Amino acid sequence: MGGAATRKRILITGGAGFLGSHLSERLLKEGNDVLCLDNFFTGTKDNIAHLMGNPHFELMRHDVTFPLYVEVDEIYNLACPASPIHYQHDPVQTTKTSVHGAINMLGLAKRTRAKIFQASTSEVYGDPQVHPQKEDYWGHVNPIGFRSCYDEGKRCAETLFFDYYRQHKLRIKVARIFNTYGPRMHPDDGRVVSNFVMQALKGQDITLYGDGLQTRSFCYVDDLIEAFVRLMNTADDVTGPVNLGNPNEFTIRQLAEQVIALTGSKSSLVFKPLPHDDPKQRQPDIGLAHAMLDWMPKIQLEEGLKKTIGYFEDFLRRADA
Ligand code: NAD
Ligand code: UDP
Repeated sequence: MGGAATRKRILITGGAGFLGSHLSERLLKEGNDVLCLDNFFTGTKDNIAHLMGNPHFELMRHDVTFPLYVEVDEIYNLACPASPIHYQHDPVQTTKTSVHGAINMLGLAKRTRAKIFQASTSEVYGDPQVHPQKEDYWGHVNPIGFRSCYDEGKRCAETLFFDYYRQHKLRIKVARIFNTYGPRMHPDDGRVVSNFVMQALKGQDITLYGDGLQTRSFCYVDDLIEAFVRLMNTADDVTGPVNLGNPNEFTIRQLAEQVIALTGSKSSLVFKPLPHDDPKQRQPDIGLAHAMLDWMPKIQLEEGLKKTIGYFEDFLRRADA
């Protein structure tokens, strides 16, 4: 544990969201001061309620599209809705969050000389024509489609990070995150793991979009957070971008079948139209992360799903009480 002299002041934007709440917990455990900033668009106070009594935790309601003046040593920039339903709800705001948010947080890092981490995404690869995806692949992205507010917003944010690095010598760490799941995902955010688990627990039909043969590779949240912290602690000349995710690839249908088996649900599979620009396959090449961070995901799908199912069972019990 760090004492007052070694304690870092760390800002987490989007800190009340799914990933932000786990990161807040981890950084507090390491003895840091955490400033959790959120506009509560998709995040909730419930996600961080258990941290509120900690004197080293501070919550601030703020929108990253507006400038922010605080004194910090490190910034994790996570603010941005991550599920297609939420980021397509107000696409202009999504682009602003990624782009203006990055400009504001990079400006803050420049003034305070803080190290800054960007939560980028596998979506920068779009519907990839190279498989698995490596960091040097430039992507196959539709610039004018329904997912573009998110994909292009995140691509522009990466551009800004690298321009601040070259122009202003900022210490940057860019992570390209692949599908991650676990406790505290938003129960109705439409992402596949939360959708399937909620549907299975409620005995509703499991909605497979398209033929269900599209693939994703699912990383459990604890593995991802470990990689975030390792990346932030790398030498100053390490910038990324670096892929973070679990390379074990599954079809969406296999995921549905596993969720049904683990919940013992009687739900049936139903097929719905595939959303616009839905990538057909996605699998990270994590060779760089392994070499650079000495990191590999440890929690495989069955174990991670069991923990996630446990969380949503509790969530439903609390909602019924
Ligand atoms: P999330 O929606 O749970 O968290 C995002 C948080 O950002 C929420 O708390 C939300 O209220 C907040 N937020 C949104 N707009 C904001 C704004 N303008 N100002 C302040 N706060 C704002 O999603 P998550 O899964 O925790 O994702 C966190 C980050 O990781 C996002 O940047 C996302 O793009 C990235 N990411 C996540 C995944 C994943 O699989 N979970 C994959 C790739 C990238
Ligand atoms: N999906 C599905 N049923 C659902 C939700 C999602 O079949 O109820 C599919 C979706 O079409 C996509 C995959 O699951 O192919 C992952 O979707 P998600 O929204 O979780 O993330 P994405 O990787 O597409 O951003």
